[in-house]
Amino acid sequence: MSDSPTEKRIVILRLGHRPERDKRITTHVALTARAFGAEGMLLASEDKGIVRSVSDVVERWGGDFYIKHNVSWKAAIRDWKEAGGKICHLSMYGINLPDAIESMKLPDKLMIVVGAEKVPFEIYGLADWNVAVGSQPHSEVAAVAVTLDRLSEGNDPLKNKKFEGAKLEVVPTECGKQVIENPD
Ligand code: SAM
Repeated sequence: MSDSPTEKRIVILRLGHRPERDKRITTHVALTARAFGAEGMLLASEDKGIVRSVSDVVERWGGDFYIKHNVSWKAAIRDWKEAGGKICHLSMYGINLPDAIESMKLPDKLMIVVGAEKVPFEIYGLADWNVAVGSQPHSEVAAVAVTLDRLSEGNDPLKNKKFEGAKLEVVPTECGKQVIENPD
């Protein structure tokens, strides 16, 4: 079972990760994707450390989000398309998200591609949508968060949703911090 707020399957493909400088931001892309309903993230670089730290969060906070590294982005996109999935590439140069969102809601399987350094130009041609979350440069974390929020229908990812098998669960509180251990 996916943690996705709808039955839609959403996977993030992270390109251009440089282990020496992108560890933190790539980890944040994965954690944001998990929190907002993606089923997993494919990392087109080698970085066992990221796999370990994201898996550690999943272990403690629940759900079945997966992360795979060393993925060939060409093969990942080809396989996804062959299985009937669609591709959305997030780029400040694309069309505005509000103009694409209704058609992006239609496919059952959506891969969201985000870069770090400059993405290969081929990606623009392979994508079904090249989508800008505002036409200004900002962050892949913000772009993923806003896109997943806009994609969610009838199941608000900002409401405290349950993650199966969680060992830790936050109790939303007006002031202070409340965490339940082993809530089930
Ligand atoms: N310098 C890189 C280039 O020219 O392609 C972009 C670097 S940017 C920090 C990293 C990633 O964040 C981009 O590849 C894109 O996926 C995402 N991103 C940044 N700003 C965005 C925006 N306004 N809309 C959509 N995605 C954005």
